[in-house]
Amino acid sequence: MTGRLANKRILISGAGQGIGRASAELFAAEGAHVIATDCNAQPLGELKGRDGIEIASLDVTDDNAIAALAEQIPPVDVLFNCAGYVHQGNILDCPMDEWDRSFGINVRAIFQMVQGFLPGMLASGGGSIINMASVVSSIKGVPERCAYGASKAAVVGLTKSIAADYVRMGIRCNALCPGTVDTPSLADRIAALGDPETVKKDFERRQPMGRLGTTGEIATAALYFASDDSAFVTGTVFVIDGGMGL
Ligand code: NAD
Repeated sequence: MTGRLANKRILISGAGQGIGRASAELFAAEGAHVIATDCNAQPLGELKGRDGIEIASLDVTDDNAIAALAEQIPPVDVLFNCAGYVHQGNILDCPMDEWDRSFGINVRAIFQMVQGFLPGMLASGGGSIINMASVVSSIKGVPERCAYGASKAAVVGLTKSIAADYVRMGIRCNALCPGTVDTPSLADRIAALGDPETVKKDFERRQPMGRLGTTGEIATAALYFASDDSAFVTGTVFVIDGGMGL
């Protein structure tokens, strides 16, 4: 197999749709063996039988399922923690269960995934961990993203901590911080907020470049961190946001 990811085994969470799905497809096209995981069987099933992709059902909030999958499959070279959840609301209208859900999917799950898959990476000589954060985090506050922004800021901190602990052991860990990206879940959120055309224009206005990012643009950034092209890069917080953080 040729390509920038030839001979790499890569596990992606939240690979059923959006950025995770685009990354699974790009990584496979670049020669990787991709283990595409998601808790939603329907979109994940669409990847079944694709060249270079195997699928596995995985809810990243299920600690036992993570441990079982880590034991069941050979070690991976790259772990891309992409699954995430957006709660819309400020601190006064964020119920505790939504705060917990945000931190459960966006932060605790990454902690569990790394605890599950890092030992195999260490045993096989190293690897690259890519954590999905957001420009809405420690980088920028935006209205109505209290739990989301706080949880993604925690992803930045967790990423730097892992990078510092394992830099001498062949493990790299980096965070991706996209701006607003055109994905199915964004479309759902737009639909839930009223007149879709106006709401979409509001999202586009937040972007100084005047447009949303594409899943392919974020997958290309993930490809860099998954490949040996980034062999000298760890602990970075890579902003890919069309200028939203400026
Ligand atoms: P999306 O929301 O369209 O899809 C997310 C996928 O994750 C879905 O397939 C869903 O089934 C899966 N998922 C959700 N909860 C899960 C769980 N508990 N276990 C396993 N899978 C689960 O995806 P997206 O918009 O491409 O977002 C992907 C990541 O990028 C998220 O972490 C998100 O916060 C982050 N992000 C997105 C944007 C954006 O504008 N879309 C911007 C910055 C960061």
